[in-house]
Amino acid sequence: MEAVWRQRLSRAVVLVAGLWALAAAPPALPAVRESSFLEPATTRYHATASCYDRADWAALVSSGYPYLSGNETSVYGLWRYEIRQVALPTRGCQALERWRQTPALMVSVWIFVLGHELTHAQQGDFYNAPWSRPFNEVEADCGGFAKFQRIKLELGITRRLRPPPRDFARCPLKKAKARLTNGAWPAP
Ligand SMILES: [Zn+2]
Repeated sequence: MEAVWRQRLSRAVVLVAGLWALAAAPPALPAVRESSFLEPATTRYHATASCYDRADWAALVSSGYPYLSGNETSVYGLWRYEIRQVALPTRGCQALERWRQTPALMVSVWIFVLGHELTHAQQGDFYNAPWSRPFNEVEADCGGFAKFQRIKLELGITRRLRPPPRDFARCPLKKAKARLTNGAWPAP
């Protein structure tokens, strides 16, 4: 089970980059809903979070990453740069909204994903990405770890949780300090 998770997450974190390559006219997404539950964690980044049902998630992912058509469930989150939105599949939103019932590892994984995407928000602000430089996925993973406890707190999740295992992501241990938790991005 864990090996499967690791494999799936390692694929996912490769793919949770900012989604700025959308076609000019994004697909209509009627079943997308904003998550007020996630808002306390996104507000500081002047961002929102939205939940995409299965079909809309597939449409969103394949519009940005056509080569992933059919494998959309391996993508855990996207930063929609153009509208400052953390996009999550509904299953991710529900795992967090129903944190009391969700297995601990799942809750941790989705908190991590949220922190990863919010680090992309910081990167975009600091570097004026995507046009000046690409998003840095390693730093985003580090942000996922560094922001973990704060996001958990902001979401009101009172359960005792640990971040996902280190080898889920690509952040070197010594870089995972809390320097990114305050919204401050290190100087280039
Ligand atoms: Zn990413």
